[in-house]
Amino acid sequence: MTDCLFCRIVAGDIPATVVRETDTTLAFRDIDPKAAVHVLVVTKEHFVDIASLAQADPELTGDLMETAAVVAETEGLLADGFRLIFNTGAYGGQEVDHVHAHVLGGEPLGPMVCK
Ligand code: 5GP
Ligand code: ZN
Repeated sequence: MTDCLFCRIVAGDIPATVVRETDTTLAFRDIDPKAAVHVLVVTKEHFVDIASLAQADPELTGDLMETAAVVAETEGLLADGFRLIFNTGAYGGQEVDHVHAHVLGGEPLGPMVCK
């Protein structure tokens, strides 16, 4: 039994609204959406963040990016654009320590960061 929230979602122990699943990745809707479309894309294997994943396994990183792109397409975001975010570490505002891409869109998203 892991105490990692996203590992538990991958395992099916915690319910989520899944929008796409591959052999290596899972995409599901964020429980507290910050935009009209807000999907999280995770690797099924546990990595803490995008920096550790990208250095340890570039091929799996590609799988994650491909799933994010397919989700953007199936959610109808390609024409108007979207944002892909990897919050990383304390300054990046990462709350869940299992690598995840936020796919955000469906409306204008405003400035990248608030200063
Ligand atoms: P972070 O701040 O780590 O980049 O993003 C974590 C995201 O996970 C947040 O947007 C938050 O709303 C989402 N989240 C937290 N708990 C759950 C949950 O139990 N289910 C789902 N689907 N999303 C969650
Ligand atoms: Zn995990």
